[in-house]
Amino acid sequence: EKNYVGFATLPNQVHRKTVKKGFTFTLMVAGESGLGKSTLINSLFLTDLYRDRKVPNAEERINQTVSNVKHTVSIEEKGIKLRLTIIDTPGFGDAVNNTESWKHIEDYIDQQFEHYFRDESGLNRRNIQDNRVHCCLYFISPFGHGLRPLDVECMKALHEKVNIVPVLAKADSLTQAEVSRKKMNIREDIKLFGINIYQFPDCDSDEDEDFKRQDQILKDSIPFAVIGSNVQVESKGRKFRGRVYPWGVVEVENPAHSDFLLLRNMLVRTHMQDLKDVTRETHYENYRAQCIQNMTR
Ligand code: GDP
Ligand code: MG
Repeated sequence: EKNYVGFATLPNQVHRKTVKKGFTFTLMVAGESGLGKSTLINSLFLTDLYRDRKVPNAEERINQTVSNVKHTVSIEEKGIKLRLTIIDTPGFGDAVNNTESWKHIEDYIDQQFEHYFRDESGLNRRNIQDNRVHCCLYFISPFGHGLRPLDVECMKALHEKVNIVPVLAKADSLTQAEVSRKKMNIREDIKLFGINIYQFPDCDSDEDEDFKRQDQILKDSIPFAVIGSNVQVESKGRKFRGRVYPWGVVEVENPAHSDFLLLRNMLVRTHMQDLKDVTRETHYENYRAQCIQNMTR
């Protein structure tokens, strides 16, 4: 089952009712222009996995993104439904006005909170559509030392509003050693500048050793080194998504080449529910508390 995403294994984490109604999850990408945001979204979810599903405008996706674009994919696995919304955003440098280039991202997140808050205070509270952004993949250039000043500004503008998961873009342009070094620099910068990225929850002490080992691997991989590609490569009788170079072929889904699979598993299998919980309990609560404070002032 190569195209199996794995969210169907989620039910043990959640209430049965949610399972029946189906899951909704909203993911957003952000970062400098040209780092492969649109391509990665496509690699992660849109084409390969849902090959028999007709995704309209397949060409359009690889064009430069000039405004927030919302993709919705409905998938069903083992009788369980997932409605995945992906918000692709123009990178910094794409916009005409590059000052406060993350403003459209911040505004989008706020608007979703605002809608939810309004719906929650309304009459039809039972059927609220949850469009809150549960996770933001933040793309970091492989060509810098660590974070750039614009990255720091942007992440700080967003970190109280959304779960930020940092990724090291275009990892195929770096050697293994460079990937390790850049990851370390980025982790140091994140600490140094006081950026609150999404924290993976601690393991329960009664989890087995294998689970704990996997969990530690995940935590140590931050920022996830990713490679995106829109093309199927055929090599040695196998077909896969990859990038071709004079010196060889990079496979997007090969764990030795990138953290792509780790990231996708984390998003749709192991941590989807926690990302939603943190959104509701922390980010949305902050927003709500502020609204109420402003109303009573
Ligand atoms: P965006 O502006 O961040 O959405 O970037 P795009 O997805 O439009 O990609 C910009 C360019 O980088 C395109 O030519 C892609 O083919 C290329 N690209 C995307 N992902 C990768 C990657 O992982 N590695 C390399 N080397 N190139 C990539
Ligand atoms: Mg784009």
